[in-house]
Amino acid sequence: MLTRAEILKLHRQSIIVDGHADTFGNILSCNGDFLKPGPRAQRWGEKKHPHNNWQHMDFPRMLKGGVDLQFMAIYTPPSYQSADATLYALKMLTAMRKAVNDSKGKIVFIRSSKDFKELAKGKKGFLIDIESGTCLDKSLRLLEMFYYLGVRSISLTQNHANELADGVRVDNPCGLTAFGKQVIKEVNRLGMILDIAHLAKPGFRDAVKIAAGPIISSHTGVRKLRDIPRNIDDDQIKEIARRKGVVGIMYLPEFIIGGNLTFQEIARRKMVCRVPDVVDHIAYIAEKFGADYVGLGSDFDGYSGVTKGLEDAAKLPNITIELVKRGFHKDEIRKILGGNWLRVIKHVLG
Ligand SMILES: [Zn+2]
Repeated sequence: MLTRAEILKLHRQSIIVDGHADTFGNILSCNGDFLKPGPRAQRWGEKKHPHNNWQHMDFPRMLKGGVDLQFMAIYTPPSYQSADATLYALKMLTAMRKAVNDSKGKIVFIRSSKDFKELAKGKKGFLIDIESGTCLDKSLRLLEMFYYLGVRSISLTQNHANELADGVRVDNPCGLTAFGKQVIKEVNRLGMILDIAHLAKPGFRDAVKIAAGPIISSHTGVRKLRDIPRNIDDDQIKEIARRKGVVGIMYLPEFIIGGNLTFQEIARRKMVCRVPDVVDHIAYIAEKFGADYVGLGSDFDGYSGVTKGLEDAAKLPNITIELVKRGFHKDEIRKILGGNWLRVIKHVLG
């Protein structure tokens, strides 16, 4: 067993990648500054912050937690449609660009594996992803525009239905639309990462028939441990592993704990999600499918509440401590913390 100092050294020396955060949605709505400390996360029993603004991550806490590369999501809520959605996405992209510019070289955009050398120098990276293709306004040209603007990953939809696909909260969901299928082909042609998070099962089945190469689920839980439609089942994990993709495990309490209880029942019992609960999901995939196919996908700032011990990005070493406790080898831990994400990025983006 490694000492605490040795575990923290392993954490510091690993390239750490988080597959999903919604931080810039809050920055945009509150006119926040990513580079400055934001309010801390809400604790159990506390009232929500007045603006429910970025509770989990900012640049100081990203540094403290040792996160090297963050997939930063452009999520367009369904209240924005057509060109309004495109405009909203462009505004969020501009907010990300402003943070990178203001960081004066401390943060860089990751567009291909050539940019990994910046991470090795100690810089931090953003990989921009689109969460829900509503902002494409049914145009493959706009997808290409977003690629030229630096977007490198895309999920077709969020929980709702849009012009591409049905999400997991749609009753009796259908497969992909004709446009959704075209988007996958274009994603492959451009060299972008296809993310199946939030996609309902019929859409998933269509997607894997069309898509070439690795696919990811950037932020999810394991259905076998927490039985809700939002989490992915063993067939989906198996397909992602077969394609040498990655499943990013989220820290959203109600999606991790509770087995098959309802959300109301979890709240009534005042159940608390802790670091070992999150690591249970990581360990499930590592043990059943292999440590090469699982990673981190916090969903920070995409939910309110906290997992105890993972209240914000600064607490990330607690995951490494738990992985060591479970008996994972150093090599496996490095892969889970970020090596697996780097492999997929290199494979897909070149
Ligand atoms: Zn999401």
